[in-house]
Amino acid sequence: RAKEKGRNDFQIFNSDMKSVSINRLKLENELRKALINEEFVLYYQPQVEIESGRIVGVEALIRWNHPDKGMVMPNHFIPLAEESGLIVPIGEWVLRAACKQNKTWQSEGYTPMPISVNLSMRQFFQHNLKGKISHVLEQTGLDPAYLELEITESMTMDVEHAILSLLELKALGVNVSIDDFGTGYSSLYYLKKFPIDKLKIDRSFVRDIMVDPNDAAIVATIIAMTHHLNLKVIAEGVETEDQLNFLYQNRCNEVQGYWYSPPVNRVELEHMLKNGIAAASAVSLAK
Ligand code: C2E
Ligand code: MG
Ligand code: MG
Ligand code: MG
Repeated sequence: RAKEKGRNDFQIFNSDMKSVSINRLKLENELRKALINEEFVLYYQPQVEIESGRIVGVEALIRWNHPDKGMVMPNHFIPLAEESGLIVPIGEWVLRAACKQNKTWQSEGYTPMPISVNLSMRQFFQHNLKGKISHVLEQTGLDPAYLELEITESMTMDVEHAILSLLELKALGVNVSIDDFGTGYSSLYYLKKFPIDKLKIDRSFVRDIMVDPNDAAIVATIIAMTHHLNLKVIAEGVETEDQLNFLYQNRCNEVQGYWYSPPVNRVELEHMLKNGIAAASAVSLAK
């Protein structure tokens, strides 16, 4: 009996595995079609200078406008795209679309500001990444100073590769930031050796700064460190005025988060660029 049960378990497990892999295959095919049918869209989240309340940058975040499912969030397809390698052409689409949009904003007279693009692991390790990026910059006519590439700490584990790649990117004139900072295994020793411009403090630390003294200490320490290392810093996931105040008092210059705005579509972002952001400005901040 036990044997039979074991066998059944095995079969159930097996057929589950099968349906999982069928679903993955389906999703992978849909992703391929999505590229051809241009179903991806970019949303934009403002990055705000606390002191002035002004938008000083935007992060481009991909969405999949699926014909049946509606707007699909990146967490639902980026991991599979990464595994299957489709992230390379998808990432290239994001890069081109973001550069093109930023160039368009500039020619329409909006104050020039950098646009941040998330690079995936595969893209970062791709052969001739520098050539691909410089090609996109040439094609779109965007000044490299207005492109920022976000990498994560996990991409810097191979220190030699990371330093060489980052030097190549810096030679192009683009900016580089470390996204989700604090969640990986960056050694402080190497951090100072990496030619990067900015740290983005992960929102898991920001979330509890008002309730967890450890998180408050970590965030304050990261900010202080960036000033010593001459790096820029931005806090992600700022949702409340208290968090904003804490960050301001601890000399964090920029924030990104729902307090100011979630990621929005092009039209909504343009509205904010024209009219400013309706949220607390530095005036109301306790100094
Ligand atoms: P990320 O690069 O760290 O982007 C920030 C994410 O945090 C966004 O989620 C944004 O909507 C969310 N967020 C911003 N402010 C707040 C806040 O105040 N509270 C909360 N709870 N969340 C906030 P999104 O757009 O769903 O993107 C998730 C992740 O997917 C991104 O994290 C990034 O790792 C990845 N991703 C998005 N677009 C791309 C892309 O074009 N290429 C690649 N390779 N990855 C992408
Ligand atoms: Mg990011
Ligand atoms: Mg992040
Ligand atoms: Mg993240």
